[in-house]
Amino acid sequence: MKQPEDLQPVVLNQNAEVVLSKRYYRKGPDGEPLEDATGLFWRVASAIAAEEGKYPDSSCRADELAREFYDLMTSWKFLPNSPTLMNAGTDLGQLAACFVLPVGDSIEEIFDAVKHAAMIHKSGGGTGFSFSRLRPAASRVGSTGGVASGPLSFLRIFNTATEQIKQGGTRRGANMGILRVDHPDILEFIRAKEREGEFNNFNLSVALTEDFMKAVEKGEEYPLMAPHSGEAKGTLNAREVFEILVQKAWESGDPGIVFIDRINRDNPTPAQGEMESTNPCGEQPLLPYEACNLGSVNLAGLYLAGHGSTADSIDWAELKRIIRLSVRFLDNVIDASRYPLDRITETVHRNRKIGLGVMGWADLLFQLRIPYDSQDAVKLAGRVMEFIRAEGRAASKQLAKERGPFPAYAESVFGQRDLGPYRNATITTIAPTGTLSILAGCSSGVEPLFALSFARHVMDGERLVEVNPYFEQALKDEQCYSEKLMEAVTQKGSVQTMEHLPQHMRDVFVTAMDIEPVWHLKMQAAFQEYTDNAVSKTVNLPNSATIDDIRSIYWMAYERGCKGVTVYRDGCKQSQVLCTGDGE
Ligand code: UDP
Repeated sequence: MKQPEDLQPVVLNQNAEVVLSKRYYRKGPDGEPLEDATGLFWRVASAIAAEEGKYPDSSCRADELAREFYDLMTSWKFLPNSPTLMNAGTDLGQLAACFVLPVGDSIEEIFDAVKHAAMIHKSGGGTGFSFSRLRPAASRVGSTGGVASGPLSFLRIFNTATEQIKQGGTRRGANMGILRVDHPDILEFIRAKEREGEFNNFNLSVALTEDFMKAVEKGEEYPLMAPHSGEAKGTLNAREVFEILVQKAWESGDPGIVFIDRINRDNPTPAQGEMESTNPCGEQPLLPYEACNLGSVNLAGLYLAGHGSTADSIDWAELKRIIRLSVRFLDNVIDASRYPLDRITETVHRNRKIGLGVMGWADLLFQLRIPYDSQDAVKLAGRVMEFIRAEGRAASKQLAKERGPFPAYAESVFGQRDLGPYRNATITTIAPTGTLSILAGCSSGVEPLFALSFARHVMDGERLVEVNPYFEQALKDEQCYSEKLMEAVTQKGSVQTMEHLPQHMRDVFVTAMDIEPVWHLKMQAAFQEYTDNAVSKTVNLPNSATIDDIRSIYWMAYERGCKGVTVYRDGCKQSQVLCTGDGE
């Protein structure tokens, strides 16, 4: 589709300019950009809208839809995940951020997975693996009579391979490595990141089972099992294992935890097998050889000023319009994307999972003057996500009418319970939106702000300073603004100790470090309740957080119905992505 001459030019914030020109613009052989922001968003909008042509009963015209998609993205109301922005309408054409690959218990299968991961990383996707099927270290290898080296030694190979493949020259491959808690090598896995820098291309999570959690509760032993032979391999004390897990997470942030039985309870297509892993950041459980593309609605832009009640201060009609359009966009992405393996194309096309989520949540709360750590915020989270899920499902039903349900619909839980038909086996996921939130200039995902003013270290050591615009405006409105104050906030990140600021300001403008961990969990659980897949959430904690804090966070995640959780204690690693002034 030819780029129309009357497209509204894109207005970029300063950080977006840096990110787009470093990573996202298509470049020629000399490294010079071949497009600007208008060109990029038209490339994406037109490539995704062109998929309408495939569907004779489409209710949309591709050229009109391309303009709508363009306006949707360039008004920063919705953005698809980074690979879609980078690769739509290009020769590479791989548009999904999330993949899960199986790792089988043979040298051939292991190295197939290494190769397939390399192909995915090259195209900008992240990969998740379960290593639970690998025989434990020191078990016999039938064909050679030797002994196996175990999951950890193979994990190292995946890590090294990732190191060598910078994603399409843009971003480094991210991985999730999962091991079931009943695997005989579990203690070694839990301790894998003891030395800083080890396995640094991996997030590690232990897959906890319901049986294990019950054994922790009762202080009982639980059985280990060799996966390749089904042989019992002794027992461990569940509470002791849980304690080591908590201790290691306190030390380095890893491992996180996923509740694998819960993930499978919500598996929409159990006839196709179990889900054993998630994508790198944990928000997207998938079947082996499955991929998913994500997209996020920017809630920060939906605030309506001058309305009395909270409910009236959110533009629900606009949110509905955005959701309808975004679901169509994401469904088209499935067809527009070229996947690196036929197996992946088949699985993706069978289930047609998409993951629509949100960003800018903390910014919306700032504008509404609702503290993140309050019951009002938690209630609103549920209300917003319930709305998104309901409208997302309605949009998917509409698409099923035009295009047919996802091919595995009849065997899915929806087909079995006669709930559909839907076009997509899953519709909602809450992503971290690490880069998307920079482009849109909003707070990331459903996270509270890391700091009200902070330095971001991005690519090549570049440092971007950011002051939250809603905080700055509120200071001005309250006649509290001064250069001196701003300097102090950049140093501290937080205003909690600034007693000259009115209490209501300190209550509303809270950061991740100011919030009691329980509120992080309550918020995650509120969003999870109405999310088909999972919620990316890191419980960021001050350096002073204790092992008891981590234990209670992991336990609360279990009790509140989360699918997993990750913690990060400020300063526990020498290099970290986000720093407040004090941290440098
Ligand atoms: N991801 C990746 N490498 C990265 C960042 C992200 O592979 O450096 C993948 C990973 O699967 C992650 C998903 O993209 O879970 C979504 O991450 P995020 O929302 O931060 O990505 P964005 O679209 O904002 O770049």
